[in-house]
Amino acid sequence: MHFIVCIKQVPEGTEVEIDEEKGVLKREGVESKLNIYDAYALEAAVRLKERLGGTVTVISMGPPQAAAVIREAYMLGADAGYLLSDRKFAGADTLATSYTLAEAMGHLPPVDVIFCGMQTTDGDTAQVGPGIAELLGLPHASYVTEIGAVTDGAIVIDTDMGDGIETLQIDLPCLLTVTKEVNQPRLPSFRLKMATKDRPISVWGSEALVGANPDNFGLDGSPTQVERIFPPPRGRDREIWQGTGAELSQRMGAKLKELKYL
Ligand SMILES: Cc1cc2nc3c(=O)[nH]c(=O)nc-3n(C[C@H](O)[C@H](O)[C@H](O)COP(=O)(O)OP(=O)(O)OC[C@H]3O[C@@H](n4cnc5c(N)ncnc54)[C@H](O)[C@@H]3O)c2cc1C
Repeated sequence: MHFIVCIKQVPEGTEVEIDEEKGVLKREGVESKLNIYDAYALEAAVRLKERLGGTVTVISMGPPQAAAVIREAYMLGADAGYLLSDRKFAGADTLATSYTLAEAMGHLPPVDVIFCGMQTTDGDTAQVGPGIAELLGLPHASYVTEIGAVTDGAIVIDTDMGDGIETLQIDLPCLLTVTKEVNQPRLPSFRLKMATKDRPISVWGSEALVGANPDNFGLDGSPTQVERIFPPPRGRDREIWQGTGAELSQRMGAKLKELKYL
């Protein structure tokens, strides 16, 4: 079986600082690490490989230094790694990110399960996993908390629905985004570190994605642009509203218009 895991390099720490002037996250001088949810996604794939046989491929889109998370994935059981790195990919919103990752997957051997983390700790949108699945036309489930049997071309999983757990059977190939409940990731192996230290990482630029529409990459392919980004002011006024759903949504709409958010 072939498992693909999407992994992203994110700034270290839980307090991500914001450059309000440029409207981006401050990344200079900030240590980077593997997005924590992607460690759970990788562990899920490696456990399935150990149960059923096959290979685990990791894929990341980011600047050249993001190769570090692929090297880390090798120490955690990944067999092959691809870094999508090109200035044309820069400034991507979640749609352009999903598009680029999905196009790259089209150049890899056929996949059985694509794993993603449920979200990142920087962008935090939880949109990229479902975005990839929709672009590839694959069934998908988010917030997976448990992975069960794989039989007859389908996988049984539990997903967190917010107010309960739902057990589903999904046809393969499919895409799953996982929560921290799904497993306990192993620690990087020194044995694997030594064994994989010379393993290559394939770096693909836009020209490698033959057949893709370059207008869909990066900033050009991003229908959303960050207009302003700022930490919410502390100690702001709060109001408690009461009423029916219809009354409250009308009031909310009026308030958003008043604040010029609509
Ligand atoms: C409206 C908007 C505008 C933006 N504009 C800009 C901008 O102008 N410049 C800019 O630098 N950023 C911008 N971003 C941030 C950028 O879009 C996101 O960092 C990126 O699209 C991934 O989204 P996310 O971090 O929310 O991932 P999520 O959707 O939260 O991630 C879910 C999972 O998808 C996978 N995944 C996500 N990203 C990657 C990746 N790069 N490689 C491999 N796997 C991945 C991982 O498995 C991850 O756990 C913007 C975001 C939004 C919402």
